[in-house]
Amino acid sequence: MNILGPTKTFALDFDSVLADTMVIWVKEYNERHHTNITKNDIYAWDISKILPITPEEISKLFNYVWEYRWQEIPPCEPNQNSTIENIHKSGFRISILTRRERPTVSYVARWLDHHDIFSDDLIFVYDAMPKSEYPFDFILDDSPINLIDITAPKIGILYDQPWNKDFQWPFRIKSLQSAAGIVLGKDKKII
Ligand SMILES: [Mg+2]
Repeated sequence: MNILGPTKTFALDFDSVLADTMVIWVKEYNERHHTNITKNDIYAWDISKILPITPEEISKLFNYVWEYRWQEIPPCEPNQNSTIENIHKSGFRISILTRRERPTVSYVARWLDHHDIFSDDLIFVYDAMPKSEYPFDFILDDSPINLIDITAPKIGILYDQPWNKDFQWPFRIKSLQSAAGIVLGKDKKII
């Protein structure tokens, strides 16, 4: 980074913001349990309240999907790479901030390469350190838990997903494009 380089940081969550992980998670779940659920059926953050599955099995399945089916995991929306590139070119550092278990780490890097997604750094959180403690100006995340303790001047943006519909948050967006609008200050409209 040079003196004229980026000064502000836009942090992005990875699962369910960039990678639409739950699409393949439910596919794997359906194959194992002979069910026919869709991502839209996951209407609560705690999946064990919706499906007969323990929290341990939920995360085991998540890890399995990343290790063995990562190439099938689609992006959350088209043209993510050019949207991120545009935010970066407008003077932002792009920081991908993801909490996960170590066995899935290398697949995240592969997935990002595969989809040609740029970032200035890639941070893996293994412990319970809140994301709000990390350095950023804006964060885009689908998890209410990661946004709830963010305070000004930091701004948290919620990425709309079936499991966060009940969470009241001033910045809820349905696409990365809309997040770009907020981050670049061109569109203050709250969707
Ligand atoms: Mg997420």
